[in-house]
Amino acid sequence: MITTETPYKLAEIIRDTWPNLYRPPNMKFKYPNDPLDATCPYCGESGKPCSYVNSMARAYARDACKKKYDKKNT
Ligand SMILES: [Zn+2]
Repeated sequence: MITTETPYKLAEIIRDTWPNLYRPPNMKFKYPNDPLDATCPYCGESGKPCSYVNSMARAYARDACKKKYDKKNT
């Protein structure tokens, strides 16, 4: 079981070893390299550009989501 306590490298190995267990073939992941528990702290979504920041583009997406979220909650 991959939890937030699972070291990233170990989670990666588990996913590589049993890809079908953690990636049901009927589910389409837009960002297959994201940690499975990666969710955006602002919108709470996974599989979105803002769910996991591993590039500048996605950092911008996260930032845009933050701004949207802040606007909604102030
Ligand atoms: Zn978001």
